[in-house]
Amino acid sequence: MTTLTPKPSGAGSSAPTIVSRPSPSGRCFNYSAGPGALPEEVLKQAQKDLWDIFNTGVGILEHSHRRSTFDRVLAEAEADIREVGNIPSDYAVLFMQGGASSQFHTIPMNFLAKDKSDTADYFDTGEWSHKAIREARLFGKINVCGDTSSTGYDHIPKGNEVRYTTGAKYCYFESNSTVYGIQFHQDPSPPAGVELVVDACSDMFWKPVDVRKYALYYAGAQKNLGPAGTVIVIARRDFLEKGHKDLPWLLQYRTFEKEQSRPNTPATFGIYLVGQMVKWIRRQGGLKAMEQLNRAKAGMVYECLDGSSFYKAPARKEDRSFMNILFRCPTAELDRQFCAEAEKRGLDALAGHRSTGGMRASLYNSMPIEGAEALVKFMKEFESRHG
Ligand SMILES: *Cc1c(COP(=O)(O)O)cnc(C)c1O
Repeated sequence: MTTLTPKPSGAGSSAPTIVSRPSPSGRCFNYSAGPGALPEEVLKQAQKDLWDIFNTGVGILEHSHRRSTFDRVLAEAEADIREVGNIPSDYAVLFMQGGASSQFHTIPMNFLAKDKSDTADYFDTGEWSHKAIREARLFGKINVCGDTSSTGYDHIPKGNEVRYTTGAKYCYFESNSTVYGIQFHQDPSPPAGVELVVDACSDMFWKPVDVRKYALYYAGAQKNLGPAGTVIVIARRDFLEKGHKDLPWLLQYRTFEKEQSRPNTPATFGIYLVGQMVKWIRRQGGLKAMEQLNRAKAGMVYECLDGSSFYKAPARKEDRSFMNILFRCPTAELDRQFCAEAEKRGLDALAGHRSTGGMRASLYNSMPIEGAEALVKFMKEFESRHG
């Protein structure tokens, strides 16, 4: 463990001084829910490419999005996503902007009838699906087909908690609730003919996926797959073609498909970094290796929680998330102390979302196994001092 100079604290910042950094490279372990950690290898490559990419004498940020260097970056990013995610050719892979939240309106705006006569089914299983529902109501009849808000989003609705609409245009769900730490381990099964649309922001590519089950599968990159500002949309081409044709040009999916994700200037650096991230996933052994790693990390932390009477975890066991793990100490004061002490030891960003309090450890693809080990070690030690 090395002692480092204190972090400069900006105006109003109350960040405690970091006294040690547990990562072998001298960085902190970052449990941020998003923007989240990135692999060190990816960051080092990006450092080089910021200066000079492909030996062009120009950095990635400075290349025109219409010239051959960026042609290559974009083509490789798409090809690598297709290979790693096993995406069939009748699916488009698009890079969009506006953050994942702009999909909340773009989806219903494109696919629900203009006279608002269509129905879409939405699961309300957390903060983001709740917001998506609010937006979708501007465009059609929204049936909340499953809703666990009344129990604090502690589980995924199942069985008779779910009421689908026959003839719905699509059924929308948030595959992993980033804020509440619950995850669909089985996809919803709406009536035949109802398309599935998925917000997979915080768990896209956490394990192998069969996108053929979905009409549209999207994620903001900043949780599991890259930097903020870039949205990855993987969608069946014939579904996208059903979108209205009299919407603003940049709000139609077909525009992005036709223009290969660059109708206007795309977020070039974001696309580059998503590409690097997917190459990194491939070097690790692809999505099967990601699943193994992610299961090992979360398993370790849940084992610690299950064996403790000090920590409480709000999510029901069968629905808990492999990506975002929520837990709390017996008092809010101890939660605060936990986060402050952890931060001093280089275990960063463990405070829960402002709506839940407590702690949240996000263990996305980029988090090494050592990050989960360091967290468990600290949890046990904290418990032994305060339990
Ligand atoms: C973070 C997140 C969003 C919102 O992403 P923005 O890019 O900030 O708009 C939406 N859905 C889920 C599941 C998320 O985790």
